[in-house]
Amino acid sequence: MSVKETTVEIKLKNLKSNLDFLKSKLNVNTKFMAVVKAFSYGSDSTIISKELERLGVDYLAVAYTQEGIELRKVGIKIPVLVLHPQENDFDDILSNHLEPSIYSFRIFSFFTKKLNKENIKTYPYHIKFNTGLNRLGFLKKDLQKLTPLIKQNLPKYIFSHLGASEDLDEKNYTKKQIEEFISISEIVEKDLNRSIKKHLLNTSGILNYSDFQFNMVRSGIGLYGFGNDTRFKADLKPVLTLKTVISQIHELKPGGSVGYNKGFIAETPTVIATLPIGHADGIGRQYGKGNGEVLIGNKMAKIIGNVCMDMIMVNVTEINCEEGDEVIFFDDNSYTAEEFSKKANTISYELISSISRRIKRNVSR
Ligand SMILES: *Cc1c(COP(=O)(O)O)cnc(C)c1O
Repeated sequence: MSVKETTVEIKLKNLKSNLDFLKSKLNVNTKFMAVVKAFSYGSDSTIISKELERLGVDYLAVAYTQEGIELRKVGIKIPVLVLHPQENDFDDILSNHLEPSIYSFRIFSFFTKKLNKENIKTYPYHIKFNTGLNRLGFLKKDLQKLTPLIKQNLPKYIFSHLGASEDLDEKNYTKKQIEEFISISEIVEKDLNRSIKKHLLNTSGILNYSDFQFNMVRSGIGLYGFGNDTRFKADLKPVLTLKTVISQIHELKPGGSVGYNKGFIAETPTVIATLPIGHADGIGRQYGKGNGEVLIGNKMAKIIGNVCMDMIMVNVTEINCEEGDEVIFFDDNSYTAEEFSKKANTISYELISSISRRIKRNVSR
């Protein structure tokens, strides 16, 4: 599809294909939690979440409570885990039937205060354990104090998060995290005298450590088409493409400069194209100064000068092109977001989750 303005295309058939591929790594009984935090990794939360619910995922996960509220507002009915609730969130969590991740004694106290106030005896929640990422969660040494507190209202799941599941050079670190999670689980289950359901694996965990899928997995980036490893390039298909058009073409004489602070100075006669997209759209300044490259008519054009808030200039001296022609930042086959982001030393996660909401979305099935 060719575009007439900056457009994010959302290909839902790729989303389904990625879900099918990830599920092919799992036992039939393992539940699937789709991670839709950060506007579904920059795509469009409503469109993606509704499609995932329709495709039968068991759970959705968001980072913050407001994101969960938005899912309920558009009619999402399946369970939603809030990964990182804050102290003032529990009114909204309960009234929107969201399930909090309880990751500290402090957050636990705000949760129980709310339950007591409403005289609610049981409410679904997940307990997060820190097994080595050192970001959020209880430690094994907290169990003595923790298990008596959770006896009345048992957690629906206990979980942890892997810190390097995509990095096969860090297998030992990951194995240690998995062992720690199993050891913590055994203590919890012994203390509570019953088994508790568990989840651990993110996308790269599913791809590299599927033996440890427990009762559910949590996948984000894989659903959007990235496996953090070229091994999975044929199996996962990017859901998003980002395209724009050439707004204007200018010819520079030697010494002519481009953009703010003369970020580029032509040494030879140079032809440049101005594109209607900038750092406010999620293409950060790190892509400027010759780092980033876009595709115009199957040729690479370097991003030159400083990326502006709403515009980017590219060097098209060697490219036969005209105003109105299509420009590809990334697509789902020849030039992916993983490849584009590498040019500025970042990763697909950062690139796609930063795509601004002001860009037009175009959905295809
Ligand atoms: C973001 C996140 C995920 C999803 O990770 P992917 O690598 O995108 O699959 C899973 N679990 C937690 C706790 C997360 O924060």
